[in-house]
Amino acid sequence: MKPEAYTHTINGAGESSPGQIGVIDPSCGSVFAQCPDASREQLDRAVEAARTSSGSWRRLGFDGRRAYLEKFAAALRDNIEELTPLLTQEQGKPLDQSRAEILRAAESTPRLCELAVEDEVLKETPAERVELRHRPLGVVGVISPWNAPIGLAVLRMAQALYAGNTVVAKPSPYTPLTTLKVGEIARGIFPAGAVNVLAGGDDLGRWMTEHPGIDKISFTGSVRTGKRVMASAAASLKRVTLELGGNDPAIVLPDVDLKQAAQQIFWTAFRNSGQICMAIKRLFVHEAIYEPMIEELAAIARRAKVGNGTEPGVDFGPLQNKMQFDIVSSLLADTRALPGVRIVTGGAPLDRPGYFVPPTIVADIADDTRLVREEPFGPVLPVLKFSDVDDAIARANDTRYGLGASVWSSDLDVARDIADRLEAGTTWINCHLVSDVHTPFGGCKESGLGRANSLFGIKEDMEMNVLRIRKAA
Ligand code: NAD
Repeated sequence: MKPEAYTHTINGAGESSPGQIGVIDPSCGSVFAQCPDASREQLDRAVEAARTSSGSWRRLGFDGRRAYLEKFAAALRDNIEELTPLLTQEQGKPLDQSRAEILRAAESTPRLCELAVEDEVLKETPAERVELRHRPLGVVGVISPWNAPIGLAVLRMAQALYAGNTVVAKPSPYTPLTTLKVGEIARGIFPAGAVNVLAGGDDLGRWMTEHPGIDKISFTGSVRTGKRVMASAAASLKRVTLELGGNDPAIVLPDVDLKQAAQQIFWTAFRNSGQICMAIKRLFVHEAIYEPMIEELAAIARRAKVGNGTEPGVDFGPLQNKMQFDIVSSLLADTRALPGVRIVTGGAPLDRPGYFVPPTIVADIADDTRLVREEPFGPVLPVLKFSDVDDAIARANDTRYGLGASVWSSDLDVARDIADRLEAGTTWINCHLVSDVHTPFGGCKESGLGRANSLFGIKEDMEMNVLRIRKAA
């Protein structure tokens, strides 16, 4: 059988590259496919194509662009059976979660396009009229990570396109294949040049941030790379939206329904093997329920099935790549060596091929440890004890991150008071991780800059323009 050929989408056509990247299946650690590694010349042509098609794409208006995006979303759905196993093979997550990610992208795209960006009249007098309008930026570069390759790439692309921009998108080199397939699907739908998808390494991302033909970078990834993107974009004052890492705290008060809260907290912390920017990563539990909460969480962890994402009934696949597996393994080794720390369940990588780490619950750990200070981005949850709510809030806020935070209590007034004092882009009460495309999403502090989704997100992919009219010439 001929191996599947994966191609970039440049100016509406498929293209390969002399350079290739080996794509690894994280459930066994072996290369299972090759994908093209875009050259600088290919990026130049993609940007040129995006610039050329920019005028006609913009003139379609919101209604015209919505029609294209609805067709695109329908085509994603039509191809879901082909895309799902590929996403699982390159990313590692169980098949049902891959399917859910693609379906959510397909459903969220037309939902985003329900929103209307209206011009506003800021002032109207007999002598003068002032209007505020929003115009597309031109070409948006979309750079995405490996934890939710399709969910993130498709939504950022859809938002930029709906706003009237053309797009050059680059997936992570760890998970390029499904996004290249999405580019192939887009080829058959959008006008040539409106949607370009190129696979490549970190250099390709850097070239995009430096490229004079790209007007904005819509970046999702780590804080470290986000800072580089911003520094590089400064040379041409490119616009940036940065959706970066998190170390989300959750504060649990003693009046919760223990079993129910534990269930929700567990799956929120561990879904996708903890590789979600806004997963719960530091769990502060009141001393009155500290031990029972740990027991509930550990019991769920012990029942969870870890394995190859293609096996039926698997809850957690492997970590996505060797780099992340090494980071999590080293965090666990450091944690195990700390005196007095209790590894309640899990605690070490599984002794098998692939990048498997079981869900790990850690108790009695101090706040100034690596596991608590750093974003683990893996299936490891430190459970921290508190007795005083003010102290818990101060400890929750004692981080450079500010993506999400949650409070769990049956007293909504008390929970709201606490939520008001937590530093985060999203604060939840009695849930975490819940989001939808009509709600702005993003972080404060070092978790990011700007917002995605909602009217706020769409407007971030646009430039404000003020029209001031003196009525008498
Ligand atoms: P990463 O920053 O290493 O890579 C992200 C993307 O940036 C990749 O496509 C990579 O090739 C590219 N890149 C690397 N160097 C670059 C450079 N100098 N210039 C431009 N692009 C460059 O992140 P990752 O390891 O792929 O993803 C994990 C991180 O992403 C975690 O910190 C996670 O919290 C974060 N994340 C944030 C969100 C959010 O919406 N806030 C969502 C998902 C993941």
